[in-house]
Amino acid sequence: QKSEWAKLVNEPTVSADGHHVELAANIGTPNDLKGVIDNGGEGIGLYRTEFLYMGRDQLPTEEEQFEAYKAVLEGMNGKPVVVRTLDIGGDKELPYLQLPKELNPFLGFRAIRLCLEEQGIFRTQLRALLRASIYGNLKIMFPMIATLNEFREAKSILEEEKQKLIAEGQKVADKIELGIMVEIPSTAVLADQFAKEVDFFSIGTNDLIQYTMAADRMNQRVSYLYQPYSPSILRLVKMVIDAAHAEGKWAGMCGEMAGDETAIPVLLGLGLDEFSMSATSILKARSLIKGLKKSDMEQLAQEVLNMQTTEQVVEAINKRIK
Ligand code: PEP
Ligand code: MG
Repeated sequence: QKSEWAKLVNEPTVSADGHHVELAANIGTPNDLKGVIDNGGEGIGLYRTEFLYMGRDQLPTEEEQFEAYKAVLEGMNGKPVVVRTLDIGGDKELPYLQLPKELNPFLGFRAIRLCLEEQGIFRTQLRALLRASIYGNLKIMFPMIATLNEFREAKSILEEEKQKLIAEGQKVADKIELGIMVEIPSTAVLADQFAKEVDFFSIGTNDLIQYTMAADRMNQRVSYLYQPYSPSILRLVKMVIDAAHAEGKWAGMCGEMAGDETAIPVLLGLGLDEFSMSATSILKARSLIKGLKKSDMEQLAQEVLNMQTTEQVVEAINKRIK
């Protein structure tokens, strides 16, 4: 089977009835690029920049960040690279920031919330990204967006840094797509309004599921509530994809669900445009999608959206796929 998949490395991902989707990879450092190329990634759908900040005792400089972003953009040779701005807090701590302990870190001062407050950290990262933008096809995305005002504020800070760099005589790419992660239910529910202002969505199901079900993704005792195939989650995913398409934007997914064989048929049917997963899942996913008709999966999606339980959804998918 592995050798069958290997033949798909340089092929586009097209369903049996001719619908193209993009299979991209999640990475944490420039060292992950080889795996992406070897496994036929059509882009980077999530570059988690946290690793640049972790395992050290001070913030990375603008120059260090610039080098890392440039290496990834050049390494991908013009293919899309979605870089997520710093998503620290929750399960990822930075001891040198000395942030006060919180009762509910996953509901607390993290990601874009921290960046909008500690603007020095944010602006340094944005400058590094803007400077690197001329080396490839950069798209920037903000994590943990809960309100339109957060997005607008982050966007205006980016715009300010862009103007400063231009005034300093630095080169910056003309057009950089700007998107958000949809990982908080408020944003999924209001996706039609967000879609008027963002260039794209990337659904972060790892967090979206924990917040929708109110079940800590690190807590074993409540892990039975971690249900990617729940009709409630699938309905939110549908809302986000439909909202994007209504405004001519694209919708991707970068949570674990995007690479999950049981979820992929339904996501294809819901019209997801980009699936971002660990590089080692890409060829298997491509092989799966090549065997599916999008029109059939649309029917399947319609069916499961109207079911009552996760168990029913899983049964329906298995029956259809096997
Ligand atoms: C997510 O929440 O789905 C996601 C991709 O982000 P992370 O796993 O880094 O929180
Ligand atoms: Mg997340």
